[in-house]
Amino acid sequence: MMRRLTSLLASILLFSSQTLAGGPTRVTGPAATAPGQPFVWLATSPIRYTVDTGPLSVNPSGQTVINNSQGLSLVQSLFQNWHSVPTTSIQFAYAGPISGVSGGDVRTVQDFNSVQGSCNAGTQSPVIFDADGALIRALGIDALVIGFTSTCKLDLPTGHIQSALILMNGEFQDGVSDPSTNNFEISADQFSEAITHEMGHFSGLDHSQINVDLFQNGLVNNCPVDELAGLPLMFPVEFCQSRKSASLPLLAPDDLAWISKLYPNSSYSANYGMISGFVFFSDGITPVQGVNVIARRVDDPTTPENESLRIAFSVVSGFLFTGNPGQSITGDNTSGSSFGSRNPALIGYYEIPVTPGTYTVQVENLDAAFTGGSSVGPLDPPAVTYGADEYWHQYESAFDNAAQKDPITVQAGQKISNINFILNQTPPRFDLFEDGEALRIMPNVPMVMRQTDALWYRIANE
Ligand SMILES: [Zn+2]
Repeated sequence: MMRRLTSLLASILLFSSQTLAGGPTRVTGPAATAPGQPFVWLATSPIRYTVDTGPLSVNPSGQTVINNSQGLSLVQSLFQNWHSVPTTSIQFAYAGPISGVSGGDVRTVQDFNSVQGSCNAGTQSPVIFDADGALIRALGIDALVIGFTSTCKLDLPTGHIQSALILMNGEFQDGVSDPSTNNFEISADQFSEAITHEMGHFSGLDHSQINVDLFQNGLVNNCPVDELAGLPLMFPVEFCQSRKSASLPLLAPDDLAWISKLYPNSSYSANYGMISGFVFFSDGITPVQGVNVIARRVDDPTTPENESLRIAFSVVSGFLFTGNPGQSITGDNTSGSSFGSRNPALIGYYEIPVTPGTYTVQVENLDAAFTGGSSVGPLDPPAVTYGADEYWHQYESAFDNAAQKDPITVQAGQKISNINFILNQTPPRFDLFEDGEALRIMPNVPMVMRQTDALWYRIANE
């Protein structure tokens, strides 16, 4: 029991990052030339990162477990996971040791602040090794966090990411597992997955929720392979056995699709199509933001695998719209978030890149546990809609059979539009005069706080 509990703890808190769903982490807002666009790095040249010069992992006796050159090779090979996706143009390049701290070894909070300062100035994008977890503890972050990412500098008008940092917690690889000191060990493959996940955030990717029943059923290290295959590496938490141990590629179809959608190369349109549409409340006209939308490949009965679990792609409705439009009533949130479009036409809009094939499309609530550093999409905490779970079919209404589904066939380069959902039996619409049962659960933490540039908040909560 104890063992199961600790392994659950260790498994659930692996990822912690800056977020805003399949899809981009951040979207351009009011200050942008083109609002409603994902924040991305300029893709014309490789993204240059610097790396810590200290060991990646040191055990409690002070002995080096993973030395610097092994750590550096690992970082380079993990960036390669994204770099080598055949339909993306994103590239990474090692730019030498971390600058701005003596010898390039980040050990103390002062070192961290100084390196973060140069990251905030856009000078470098550092990958920091916290060899024994002491730095993460000193920063006030839970010792069960394997790594985190922080976007340092964004250009609001152009929507470009200019610098970001990653911290890797080497304590998870120190060869010691001592629950009494919160020193847990994970496999090298799980560690690699966690850091590759962080590199996804570093690239501008948000979390994705697909096959969430694995998480909700409390499966730890024993996920069925078909579902594991479709579980995005960008799922908010890591809890299954490593993908490699199940002979699966490191990135799931959703990960491949979204890195390619954000950074398409010339082969993208020959390999992906798109399904798009809107999610509406029961009135059929009021758009709903914050509902998870998943396109699943229809199972091919001639194969032993279940493609509907393995090949799935997702996004959150309203992913391009702001999570916080601001309001003039309380005086403390007049302008709202700097991120996300204010175009009301995008409130319920979704679009999902898919590989060519035949799909069903479904909506579901985001898991209520995905808040803060684990959030998915623009709303934190997530919206909760009554009875959201349903498939799309041709004759959507507020009273249809949630299980009825019509297949949609998508060719490469084709965009299928207006796959629109009407949620079943939601309360009447929210408007100026009638607000008795507004469905959007307003965040209890003001969004301005979540998106502030304050260093402490970013460290503590993302
Ligand atoms: Zn994450």
